Amino acid sequence: MTLLERDRSAPSAWLGELPVTSRYTYGLAGERFFRTIKDEGKLLGTHCSNCERTYIPAALFCERCLAQLDEWVDVGTTGEVHTFTLLYENYDGSPREDPEIVVFVELADGGLIHRLDEVDPEDVVIGMQVEAVFKPKAERVGSILDISHFKPVGG
Ligand SMILES: [Zn+2]
Repeated sequence: MTLLERDRSAPSAWLGELPVTSRYTYGLAGERFFRTIKDEGKLLGTHCSNCERTYIPAALFCERCLAQLDEWVDVGTTGEVHTFTLLYENYDGSPREDPEIVVFVELADGGLIHRLDEVDPEDVVIGMQVEAVFKPKAERVGSILDISHFKPVGG
């Protein structure tokens, strides 16, 4: 038997529970990105002057030229819907009464995936201007969910 042959006499599945814990760190650029969301309600990107690109979320290195980035830019809180989808089921598979709108919001040369609210799903279009709605400062913890949702500009 080679290593790639399946042993047909062996069980093909096991039931069991594996206790798994993990800790994800934001890294240097992410730490400042999320701290500024928490403390100031602002979205900061990092700018590469070689490539004239501004990264959102902030990155420590330019993905094109690999330069270390230390120029921080406030990109504002308004972006453009690049694409979106509607969720008709909850994560547990139960049906939703109203669909949840999930958007990729283009900000600078990057963007964020988030919820869009305060708009009817049939009124969402690619290219519409949307702005971040932050939770009250006392409720922010340094997470992307410190942005409650995005809403249409002027909506
Ligand atoms: Zn670059």
